[in-house]
Amino acid sequence: MLKIFINPGHDIDLDPGACANDIREVDIALAIGEKLKKTMEVIGYPCQLLQSDNLNGETKGKPNVCATVNNSGADIFVSIHCNSAVNASAKGTETLVYSTGGKAELLAKCIQAQIVNSLNMVDRGIKERPDLCVLRETTMPAVLVETAFISNQEDAYKLMYRIEEFTNAIARGITDYEREII
Ligand SMILES: [Zn+2]
Repeated sequence: MLKIFINPGHDIDLDPGACANDIREVDIALAIGEKLKKTMEVIGYPCQLLQSDNLNGETKGKPNVCATVNNSGADIFVSIHCNSAVNASAKGTETLVYSTGGKAELLAKCIQAQIVNSLNMVDRGIKERPDLCVLRETTMPAVLVETAFISNQEDAYKLMYRIEEFTNAIARGITDYEREII
């Protein structure tokens, strides 16, 4: 069984992330992350969850995400976020990786396909983001899921009312990935 490290983006005390349409990214990411942890644990996957403003040592007094992940023995790292844009018509799902061509891309494709298909999202694809430290500094396959646009009304409604479907899609994406790598 894969050991899964779940990182809901942003920080309840210090950083709400994107805010629009009366919802905050930090709350949605945590809700999906906590449900994902429960769902995966029920089917036997060991999970850890950490939401913290301290991604790699920059915020004293909060647990360091990259250091915790790298000492956790986790097999995969899944960070959960919501997207946002000035243009309110931008919508859809994208999954970010440090670089394409490896296991992280495979995990990203599995999760992306499940979310796009089950919630009928616009497919914005897999994107390389070597600048993101949670993808660059973690030592196992790592993905950052931009579930939907909080700044788009249609996407925001899905984030508000269809949390369970996002959760189950990510869970199925992880088990699809596990089947592919065995
Ligand atoms: Zn974010």
